Amino acid sequence: MERDAILLAVGLNEKDIFNLTKNEALTTKFLRTITEVNIPLENKSSEFNYSCGPLILKLIQSIPDNLADNRLIIAKYIAQGKLKTGVQVEEAIKYAKKIGTTPLPIQDFEVECGVGADVNEEKVTELVNGQISSNKLSYYTIGKANVGKLVGTLRNEIKLLKFADGNIIKQVVEKAFQALSEELKDTPVEEAPKKVEKVAVVKTATTTEKVATQPQKKTYNFDARFLETAVNPPELLEQHKNQTGGKIMTRFPPEPNGFLHIGHAKAMNLSFGYAMSEGGCTYLRYDDTNPEKEEKIYFDSIREMMEWMGFKPFKITYTSDYMDQMYDFAVQLIKEGKAYVDFSSKKEIHDQRENKIESKYRNTTPEENLKRFEQMKMGIYDEGAAVLRVKIDMSSDNYNMRDFVAYRIKYVAHPHQGNKWCIYPTYDFSHCIVDSLENITHSLCTLEFENRRDSYYWLLATLKLYRPHVYEFSRLNITTALLSKRKVLKLVKEKIIRSWDDPRVLTLAGLRRRGYTPEGIKSFCDDIGVTRVENLIPIERLEQSLRTDLDERVNRVFAVLEPLKVVLTNYDANKVEHVEAKNHPKLAERGSRQLPLSRVLYIESSDFREVDSEDYYGLAPNKSVGLRYAPCNIHCEKVIKDENGKIVELHCTADFDKKEKPKTYIHWLSQSAPGVDPMKAEVRLYEKLFTCDDLDEVGDEWLNYINPNSEIIKPNAFVDPYFQDAKNRAVYEKYQFERVGFFVVDQDTTNDQLVFNRSVTLKVDNKFKSK
Ligand code: ATP
Ligand code: MG
Repeated sequence: MERDAILLAVGLNEKDIFNLTKNEALTTKFLRTITEVNIPLENKSSEFNYSCGPLILKLIQSIPDNLADNRLIIAKYIAQGKLKTGVQVEEAIKYAKKIGTTPLPIQDFEVECGVGADVNEEKVTELVNGQISSNKLSYYTIGKANVGKLVGTLRNEIKLLKFADGNIIKQVVEKAFQALSEELKDTPVEEAPKKVEKVAVVKTATTTEKVATQPQKKTYNFDARFLETAVNPPELLEQHKNQTGGKIMTRFPPEPNGFLHIGHAKAMNLSFGYAMSEGGCTYLRYDDTNPEKEEKIYFDSIREMMEWMGFKPFKITYTSDYMDQMYDFAVQLIKEGKAYVDFSSKKEIHDQRENKIESKYRNTTPEENLKRFEQMKMGIYDEGAAVLRVKIDMSSDNYNMRDFVAYRIKYVAHPHQGNKWCIYPTYDFSHCIVDSLENITHSLCTLEFENRRDSYYWLLATLKLYRPHVYEFSRLNITTALLSKRKVLKLVKEKIIRSWDDPRVLTLAGLRRRGYTPEGIKSFCDDIGVTRVENLIPIERLEQSLRTDLDERVNRVFAVLEPLKVVLTNYDANKVEHVEAKNHPKLAERGSRQLPLSRVLYIESSDFREVDSEDYYGLAPNKSVGLRYAPCNIHCEKVIKDENGKIVELHCTADFDKKEKPKTYIHWLSQSAPGVDPMKAEVRLYEKLFTCDDLDEVGDEWLNYINPNSEIIKPNAFVDPYFQDAKNRAVYEKYQFERVGFFVVDQDTTNDQLVFNRSVTLKVDNKFKSK
């Protein structure tokens, strides 16, 4: 076939062909790809998509040659009509770039690009209704303000929707919103109970604390994929009930290889929250079977942050506490011919499992396996030389059922067990056994474990152990934020952030330092709800929850971040008067404080402009502004500059008659006596740490998306005399700096140096607002 005939046959139009053939190299590459995908051009086959040309062209223009193997796989998917739309191909490209040169993991790849995902009207309805029902009130509030925004929010939150037709999404959301309005029409949106707990406000020294009163009961739905192996025989159920007294038992099982983050808060809120609402118990279980990554400081900080969140475990346990029992179970499996020692290498085992090939060690006799396992335990083999594998089903469609590894050798001191063991069980082996031994009724975990249900129940059924109910829910992902311990560790090591508790990362320690409260975090977790739909929550929603939480909780004070000196030329040089400022404009019971006012005061440099304009309400030459709480307005008479032309001082007159009504009232701080400036402070302004919304999508390139302005330091700020009182400067005390934002006292504060972190601005910053 001639070149142009081939190009036409795969759906390029004349204009495409004209443009393409101007680039000889690209044309050659395109034609080669068309040959390689084996699309029969002469005798057309219904198994191919003959309009695939434009998508294949898009693909080869976007994926570099070093990824040619994966590029070809994607091209085949396009030619075979399995990737049909531009969005799917874009997702495929993103995924391939993320995976790099390693072979595409086909199953994940297909999920990511929506292969076979027929997101028709029915499916869209199911997804939308499912998400809305996770928190009806919140979605109703969004939709009531603007239905278009509700469409956008849901599109953002439900990943699969990107493969659906935009018009269908719009129609379905509008219909769902109508139904929701009907259902909630009598619920007043503002006053509706948002939180699980009813809160009462009580006052402490400086910050107001919200204290839980009667907890309200929430409904939970833990339906998950049914498996016959999950059904408990009556005698086991009986025994379990005798041991628990019929109580609900959950567990929170962090691996002590890093600090807890907001995703863990979601998991804790669910496991502790559910057990608490049922009068049950929750274990904190350190899942500590990877000694090389685990450290004491992680154990300690997990406990500290869990306690800070207000979650009280019924018991603290360690997976490694059960090492003797697990060893006995392994021996039992070997004796029953259901586990074997495998000397294949890690890669060989991976390939065997990938390609459903049995290991040559699979049929070793139990006697021999017992001996070898004992030798593994005695330290006869090198690390990596031998593993114990369970013998399930190498032909299973479920990867995890293909003889997962149960034990591996590690010659590393264990932070809890010392040098007692050199073989350690894997997650797949230990998790279900310990859940069962602890009589967990509801084992709640994230969705990446869904495909492990089968092996979880296989092992318990084989060992004739009690089987907990497993329910998987979606992981929390937040735009512009990282929730991976490994990646946060990298940021710390590369000194991109100050430490694990840097106010820019969403570790719980970081959130505390940023000014979040446990109640605020829990209320955010309740607000986003628990679903099985993968979603990405806009960080603005978290920030909004912080504003809402802090608004009533904290007092308001003055701070001038970039001071500009103002001399009141008509004010007596020795006079100091005191003006009363309210600590909270709406809550009179918070009282007030006295602010000195004298001849010299400081205003925010951004509240002055040398060149005035109509839409500008601040101070300018020959213009007036009001001073919040003060008995006078100020009128700018003269601008004083240094030799470089920088404005250093303003000369103003104080107008006590307030003849002119100013358009705006600004914040200010004045010298408390001639020559005595206000208190100084360092103020750290925080912005999003990354400039890209979905960090998962950029794969290994994530470090290229650091926001260089994520921390801006104002070293010479002046703050309110309120901070002269030491208790008001205590670490984690929170404030609103009037007109500026919410701030919290940082732990770097010393007797000589006050340090504040900005928790959040007063309004959403459009510059960073996600689309
Ligand atoms: P990371 O990927 O951040 O290292 P992890 O999944 O390895 O997290 P674990 O310490 O094993 O973290 O997790 C403890 C519990 O918290 C698990 O039940 C896990 O499913 C849950 N969890 C972890 N991350 C999230 C998240 N982003 N959203 C919800 N739950 C989470
Ligand atoms: Mg983990």
